[in-house]
Amino acid sequence: MLLNESNPRMTIPQTNSLNELKFDNRFVEQLPADPDLTNGRRQVMGSAFSRVLPTKVKAPALVHYAREVAELIGLDPDQCATQEFADVFGGNTVLSGMDPFAMCYGGHQFGNWAGQLGDGRAINLGEVKTENGEHWTLQLKGAGPTPYSRTADGLAVLRSSVREFLCSEAMFHLGVPTTRALSLVTTGDQVMRDMFYDGNPGCEPGAVVCRVAPSFTRFGNFQIFAARGDVENLQRLVDFTIVNDFPHLGDPSPEVYANWFEEVCKRTCDMILHWMRVGFVHGVMNTDNMSILGLTIDYGPYGWLEGYDPGWTPNTTDASGKRYRFGNQPLVAHWNLYQLGNAIMPLINETEPLQRGLDLYLDRIESGGNEMIANKLGLDRYTEEDESLKKDLFEILTLTETDMTIWYRKLADVSIEDDVSDEDLIKPLLEAYYEPAELIGETKSRLLGWLHSYRVRVRAAGIADADRRAAMNQTNPKYVLRNYLAQLAIDKAEKGDGSLVVELLELLRRPYDEQPEHHQYFALRPEWARHRAGCSMLSCSS
Ligand code: AMP
Ligand code: MG
Repeated sequence: MLLNESNPRMTIPQTNSLNELKFDNRFVEQLPADPDLTNGRRQVMGSAFSRVLPTKVKAPALVHYAREVAELIGLDPDQCATQEFADVFGGNTVLSGMDPFAMCYGGHQFGNWAGQLGDGRAINLGEVKTENGEHWTLQLKGAGPTPYSRTADGLAVLRSSVREFLCSEAMFHLGVPTTRALSLVTTGDQVMRDMFYDGNPGCEPGAVVCRVAPSFTRFGNFQIFAARGDVENLQRLVDFTIVNDFPHLGDPSPEVYANWFEEVCKRTCDMILHWMRVGFVHGVMNTDNMSILGLTIDYGPYGWLEGYDPGWTPNTTDASGKRYRFGNQPLVAHWNLYQLGNAIMPLINETEPLQRGLDLYLDRIESGGNEMIANKLGLDRYTEEDESLKKDLFEILTLTETDMTIWYRKLADVSIEDDVSDEDLIKPLLEAYYEPAELIGETKSRLLGWLHSYRVRVRAAGIADADRRAAMNQTNPKYVLRNYLAQLAIDKAEKGDGSLVVELLELLRRPYDEQPEHHQYFALRPEWARHRAGCSMLSCSS
């Protein structure tokens, strides 16, 4: 069993109470504020944010919290069980030192410029400054309307909040760059939602998640200033971001802007490679949902590949064009980076330095993708001769419905050292097939053909089975937040029982460990979940 760096028992608990948290609100102190303090929907010009308070809720109650995130911000995890904590992170109490605000941003939605969007239901409480000088922004999602709420209510329902809470933490423990989640609090209020946009709205329990990240700045924060020709504020925001979040790049200058863009391209690339490694589909990769830090942000209608299918998207809103399907994520990120490059162009005035970042992205996504596949297969490295092995792999995974997570995990158990029969060679993989009866004829012979090539490749590299298994089990997770698992946790939570949220978070803290006591979660998606809402299809309505 591997030591997991995030193992909570290995971190040193902090002892600060809520009132002892120190805030250093750089964003509001250093960037232009909207002078209008009222909370009406409007276009906000020349400002990076608007001050706005969370809306009070009826009866805030904690469902669960992530103790590692409490420790990250220097908060004693025992504080999380108090009513005061639920009051703060449900939106009813603002601590001294907090200075709540909503950010102004725009974005390209499904390929089209959508103008001003902004934090329509996210309210940043402030930036905690820890003893070692780190800054962590605390942000409530679903804490009521802001000037950016447009026609919506600023609220979030329990269903989507459970999904955001669990997935943020699951991604972190998988090693994927992501915003974190401190807490999940129900509000005691009911929220009206038309889940399928079919004219059948219903009431659902409201909830608030507290997200935590060094910064929540998105590509769209820069785009809105550029779209409005506000180069002065564009530059202020870029300089602010470089000084605070990319200090290693040095003092802002046109050359540093280009280096910064290159680093954003790199970080975005690495995030996408992780998504492709673990089978995550974001679902709404609009430019307003792209973090400047290369963190996975805004868990909405995301999903996890069960049957491997590059054409799959969980988002019903994207069902026709499938712009944000699994296999398209690398290209969409490149398109989004191109939009960011366009936005910061007025600060550089040359295309060549920006092109450098975009080209670097394309090179890195290709070489990094090859390296990632080599890791998933337990190979020492990727060489040109592996091209056909890779190409065939992607084909055999689509011949009949094949569970991505189980297949890669079980590939580690395929015997390579010994000359086993074809039946024994294939045996460990059988659990990954949704229709084992389809594993006959051409489908079976192509799988066997691939396994024989794989065996030749691994033997030539002289990799022992035990070493290969150990390496593969660090890159191919055993447990991911399968769509139906999140839905089961939601079903219980909606009845007032948060126990499965607790259990799944515990499971997903160690996604690469065997955890035999949780073996039931290493299983194919059950048949009932194939077409059930929330398990196979989701809408943006949350
Ligand atoms: P999304 O597609 O969830 O990233 O949201 C796109 C935009 O719509 C962002 O500006 C969100 O803040 C806003 N938005 C989404 N849901 C709501 C809501 N319930 N109330 C207010 N604004 C929302
Ligand atoms: Mg969003």
